Amino acid sequence: MKRLCVFCGSSRGKHPLHAETARQLGTVLAARGLGLVFGGGHVGLMGVLADAVLAGGGEAIGVIPQALVDKELAHTGLTELLIVAGMHERKAVMADRADAFAALPGGFGTADEWFEILTWRQLRLHAKPIGLLNVNGFFDPLLAWLELALTEGFVKPIHCNELVIAHSPEELLNGLFPV
Ligand code: AMP
Repeated sequence: MKRLCVFCGSSRGKHPLHAETARQLGTVLAARGLGLVFGGGHVGLMGVLADAVLAGGGEAIGVIPQALVDKELAHTGLTELLIVAGMHERKAVMADRADAFAALPGGFGTADEWFEILTWRQLRLHAKPIGLLNVNGFFDPLLAWLELALTEGFVKPIHCNELVIAHSPEELLNGLFPV
């Protein structure tokens, strides 16, 4: 089974489209027989996404540090919950378990995880595809910054061109898992 690792908010965001899109992505993942790897929380967009995967009969694997389990933030109904020592181990396990990566809207945690996996690819530590689901223009400022970084020569075109920038779950999965 191929698996998508999704980085997304531990909050739901204010606009209802964020949660609605997370739910749609979970439904489409399950329908396509693709597994989910994620942060293992039951809160925010993470929880919405995992619940939708499970409701569709799909597989959801959570990877969560012990400290967050202790705060009772772990999703208890997952196919598999991997409890790790800390944030660095979590990233490594998520990267190992997944065949592709994507970010949905989120905050610091989402940005940190997405940029790290992008950096690892740039350094050729892995060659798995990476995408962004640009819900309601949420990532437009980030994409504008990427353009600037390209223009200024801080980012190479080859590392940007490989990104799958999508506006719907279907477009995202078609780009990350071409048939
Ligand atoms: P943020 O975008 O700052 O809300 O952080 C979301 C990302 O950080 C997720 O992809 C998770 O991996 C991780 N994360 C942050 N808060 C939690 C939480 N309460 N439970 C599980 N993972 C979390």
